[in-house]
Amino acid sequence: MKKRIPVLLTALAVVASLTACRGARAMADLVLMDGLVWTGESLRPWAEAIALRGERIVAVGNSKEIRRLVGRDTRVVDLAGNLVLPGFIDSHTHFLDGGLALLNVRLREVKSREEFVARVGDKAKELARGEWILNGDWDQQQFDPPELPRREWIDEVTPDHPVCVNRHDGHMVLVNSLALKISGITAGTPSPPGGEIGKDSRTGEPTGILKDAAIDLVTKHIPAPNPETRLKAAEAALRLAAENGVSSTHDMASDAGHFAIYQELLRSGKLTCRIYLYIPISEVDVYSRLSLKTPFGNDYLKIGGLKGFVDGSLGSATALFFEPYSDNPQTSGLFHSDMFPPGVMEQRLQAAEAAGLQVAVHAIGDRANAVLLDLYEKTITRNGPRDRRWRVEHAQHVRSQDMERLARLGVIASVQPYHAIDDGRWAERKIGPDRCRTTYAFRSLLDQGVKLAAGSDWTVAPLDPLAGIYAAVTRRTTDGKNPQGWYPEQKISLEEALRAYTTNGAFAEFAEATKGKIKEGFLADLVVLDQNIFEGPPEKIIEARVRTTIVGGRIVFDL
Ligand SMILES: [Zn+2]
Repeated sequence: MKKRIPVLLTALAVVASLTACRGARAMADLVLMDGLVWTGESLRPWAEAIALRGERIVAVGNSKEIRRLVGRDTRVVDLAGNLVLPGFIDSHTHFLDGGLALLNVRLREVKSREEFVARVGDKAKELARGEWILNGDWDQQQFDPPELPRREWIDEVTPDHPVCVNRHDGHMVLVNSLALKISGITAGTPSPPGGEIGKDSRTGEPTGILKDAAIDLVTKHIPAPNPETRLKAAEAALRLAAENGVSSTHDMASDAGHFAIYQELLRSGKLTCRIYLYIPISEVDVYSRLSLKTPFGNDYLKIGGLKGFVDGSLGSATALFFEPYSDNPQTSGLFHSDMFPPGVMEQRLQAAEAAGLQVAVHAIGDRANAVLLDLYEKTITRNGPRDRRWRVEHAQHVRSQDMERLARLGVIASVQPYHAIDDGRWAERKIGPDRCRTTYAFRSLLDQGVKLAAGSDWTVAPLDPLAGIYAAVTRRTTDGKNPQGWYPEQKISLEEALRAYTTNGAFAEFAEATKGKIKEGFLADLVVLDQNIFEGPPEKIIEARVRTTIVGGRIVFDL
């Protein structure tokens, strides 16, 4: 790993960049001096200073040379030796939905039944009678003892508020009795295809737990948030993104209505994180009717393509495997409702292909990944080579032969390193050690030549690229039980992790020629850290903090 700036290369870089701008002789609007700049470029990875004009980078080099671009109106920032990286690109978030979660009940850190009930009860007191209590992001694996919550826990504190709070992976919810009543779910209601209504093994009554497609039975009764609430939610999410150095994100939107909110923010100049928006694959006809090819939009807001699902999640035991779950031999997971009726996914992929669209499809279990690659391969073979950049979201449990297929088909693996250190606490109990060997297998994927784009899946994991980078590099589980790393042979290097969060994220949205590196002519998206994460043991990465975030030349966060 490079820890010092190679002086010769830096000098050459400066000569090159200054030659480029000498003709214009225009001064910079903002210069960052005397830092340690990791550019992300393979030939000249290190520099000291950066000059920005408007929303672009105009020069990268050493401080002495960059100083020549300082004019009367130039703002000069002394980096005092701090590390500068390209702005982080989080390739998988539920961004606006995450913002809504920030506004609702918070259950992510809850560790006991009492605390769970107290937080839901407090929210009920805050809201008007009849308003829904939503989001939550609870994790039963954190409870002591780990047990699924039940509607009886919260019924008493929510007699007048319907409740639908989700597990942090979004594949399981807890609803209260009032929500069941509103949705007409009783002991006699059968589980829908691709979903499960939790029933008490003794009484047959619903427990309040709903999985995957069964969740829709309730959510269709929840009024959509009004535009003001959505706007507030987006603003909260944008603040959090700026604090974490996230200058671009790919929003796996739950509904196409998010676009209007982003458009409003763009118009008012408040969009401080670039958004690449996916809308549900069921909407493929909308694109076809418009003859709209993706990506479409400007540097701040683009429609990326279509998002679909093959299966559920490991934590909810709905991720689809070839073999049954080790701790529950009755099930090997579920196909998502996007896979019903049979054949519909293939039709939609073909429609996406015909319309020239990018697709990003969720696949977690080894069988889900294999099924998706079968479908991708069929479509690709039928239609011939094209720059599609189709993606598998999560690519969590992938058999070796399917890793090779990902590489051969040029399919991007959109992975979330933090899940490895979070799920790593209990994954072995659920699927046994054999399948864990190819779980979040970032090293093997890279070695096979698969392009990795990294993200958080926020709110499933924190909207914090540094936490994701730490996870990819150390694989130390969050319970402290794997100090040398969980399946340590799958660790990747810091540079590989950084590329997954920068230039590969840009590639995944067809933007590698404009962002993801610190380079002349590129968009001025930068993040300044308070520590040099290239130095010292990798465990220390988690202690680094974002000091400053710059998006399009604008300082959007400053500690
Ligand atoms: Zn997701």
